[in-house]
Amino acid sequence: MGGVNRTKGGADGRADGGVAGTMMGGAVGGTDGGAEGGTEAGTVGGAARRSRNSMQLGALRSHNAALVLDLLRTAGPEGISRLELAERTGLTPQAVSKITARLREDGLATEAGRRASTGGKPRTVLRLVPEAGHAVGVHLDRDELTAVLCDLTGAVVARRRTPLDLGAGAQTVVERAVREVRELAPGGGRGPGAVLGVGVALPGPLDHRRGVLHRVTGFPEWNGFPLRDVLARRLSLPVVVDKDTNAAALGLAVQGAAGAVTSFAYLHFGAGLGGGLVIGGAVHRGTRTGAGEFGHQVVQLDGPPCGCGNRGCVEALCLAAVARGETAEAARVLGTAAGNLVALLDVDLVLLGGRTIAAAPDTFERGVAAVLDERARRAGGDAVPVRVASGGERGVAEGAAQLLLAPLFGRGEG
Ligand SMILES: [Zn+2]
Repeated sequence: MGGVNRTKGGADGRADGGVAGTMMGGAVGGTDGGAEGGTEAGTVGGAARRSRNSMQLGALRSHNAALVLDLLRTAGPEGISRLELAERTGLTPQAVSKITARLREDGLATEAGRRASTGGKPRTVLRLVPEAGHAVGVHLDRDELTAVLCDLTGAVVARRRTPLDLGAGAQTVVERAVREVRELAPGGGRGPGAVLGVGVALPGPLDHRRGVLHRVTGFPEWNGFPLRDVLARRLSLPVVVDKDTNAAALGLAVQGAAGAVTSFAYLHFGAGLGGGLVIGGAVHRGTRTGAGEFGHQVVQLDGPPCGCGNRGCVEALCLAAVARGETAEAARVLGTAAGNLVALLDVDLVLLGGRTIAAAPDTFERGVAAVLDERARRAGGDAVPVRVASGGERGVAEGAAQLLLAPLFGRGEG
């Protein structure tokens, strides 16, 4: 867009995919798209990359730089000194100085003043420059599109929302998404504060690594559609595609919604029921992005038919209970399935979200907790806590932006 003319298949055309692909294991679609983009992402060398966005380079080169950046991010506007950075990362002061000099050169960090220190001279504190880069997060829901522009801290700078029919056909949906992203990132997001890329979250199943959709429940016509590469080509920006539940879970992990806990399950009950898993601080997707298909576990062999083709799925039972107005029963069924998940994975926390939860948060929190308490009592241990996640539906679009942002800070990726 915006008059950018790249040579398809050449090094220039692959500049974005090359840079981002280095750190995201090929989940990022470059601007030239196609199958070859995936295999060669991360292997294209030097000059073409440097021509684009120096910010990506300085930050992405090393794990240590990501550690430092993340500490700068969590320190907020007050900043953090080099000495503290060295203490917290375990790096030598010399290594920290080198990294911070580079981050300042790239415009990612700046001085936040001086702070008195015990005995010695005042220490200079550094802070992240939130507006040095941005990412767009797009939530393609069944009936609505939400797009957000987030700064490096993940804070929402602008938000757009428009009705959408996810079943209206690929072309219509892609056009709508392209239009919304262009409105949020005029000029293609180039120049100071550039847009690093676009994260897109939608109902699964899908293949996160290749950015290809499968038989999206209720919308089989999407099966096989290479959404990542099509959007990357149209927008001339790197694109990452993931399930809505994974994006929401990633957003919660990066925001610190789970506190000190690094392994949690996020159960999303909206028009459907799904789950996102964060294990050891990273989103657990599985090889085929099949992890977290929480809603389609069968809990009643002869139960009512489900949209997925099985009978007695927890989603079908929960939806039926809600339709009958029996919210407490829906919570009990949800709790049973959550108990299965906790027993399988031994996560430390269960977070609940989605519009159905938001309609009766206390009932769901109490109902799920009651089942988990009961099971823990029988096993003789402490129950895993249950909380309603703040942010609700908004969390998906913000989490989608984190698909691009989180890896900069070494967060959320396994
Ligand atoms: Zn099912």
